[in-house]
Amino acid sequence: MQELTNDYLEEAIQDSRPFASSGNVNMSLPEYDETIKDYLGVTIITTDGESFSAGDNDKYIPMQSTSKIIGLMLALQDFGKERVFQTVGMEPMGDFFNSISQLESYDTSKPFNPMINAGAIAVSALIKGQTVDKRFNRYMDFLRQVTNNEQLEMSKEVYEAEKANGARNRSLAYFMQSTGTLVTDVEEALDLYFRMNSVMMCCHDFARVGLFLAKGGLDLETGEKLIPSHHLRTVKAIMMTSGMYNSSGHYAVEAGFPCKSGVSGSIIGSSPGRMGIGVVGPAIDEKGNSTAGGALIKKLSQDLELNMFGVE
Ligand code: GLN
Repeated sequence: MQELTNDYLEEAIQDSRPFASSGNVNMSLPEYDETIKDYLGVTIITTDGESFSAGDNDKYIPMQSTSKIIGLMLALQDFGKERVFQTVGMEPMGDFFNSISQLESYDTSKPFNPMINAGAIAVSALIKGQTVDKRFNRYMDFLRQVTNNEQLEMSKEVYEAEKANGARNRSLAYFMQSTGTLVTDVEEALDLYFRMNSVMMCCHDFARVGLFLAKGGLDLETGEKLIPSHHLRTVKAIMMTSGMYNSSGHYAVEAGFPCKSGVSGSIIGSSPGRMGIGVVGPAIDEKGNSTAGGALIKKLSQDLELNMFGVE
């Protein structure tokens, strides 16, 4: 097995970076343009506490859909598994992550799973708190604790862009109101969802989230248990089956550990008991996954023997 070192990671970045050329940068995000297309960075933090980084690991990008796993953890904490999965399904979906037609075709209009937009909006409606501000503060407090990064903030520019480009997400939310899936204030659920998407993180922060899932839900600084293990198990299972959208089957086979991507080119990987992985690679494919980042995840899986279903 390949030894994990910074030099190895630098080589892995160089091997994977060319895959950026087959993707496109999501131009609807502020400061996203051709000049950042080739960016690729990674941080790995092992459960022993060792940290390795390479490439553009210090670039801050919006969480986008990687926020969906944080939202799911909080909703599970607040309402438990039974109630959460009364609102949203746990089945993979073959359509694109923002599909609206799927809402009409599945079990009483439940979104298929919490990793697609409709599912995440429905889940964000479950995060407790009296006002959107209070609910978002809880989200930020939790995220800062998990990443051990007090500096994390939402980007106002990204948030404004989310709102301006939010027609599809509004459609999903209002459709869910019409079917009774979304029973709380729709605009508040959307507002929280937009804010959650707009928090800026770098590879180290993404890796810390992966590590949190890989290492039993502990505050790694104090040892306090923040999320019960049975909820983490649920989140990791859903990441494995749906975290890479309609490429999740491919990633289950080729990477074989739970991952979650976002259209900013972010990927959080969690190798249970081994490590958390944070990747930034803004060029994405048509399904919304980082092309170079995805190649890197698959390479890491092979070289470091991370596939949970067995190694070659
Ligand atoms: N902001 C994006 C959206 O709501 C996030 C989706 C994603 O990262 N796949 O459509």
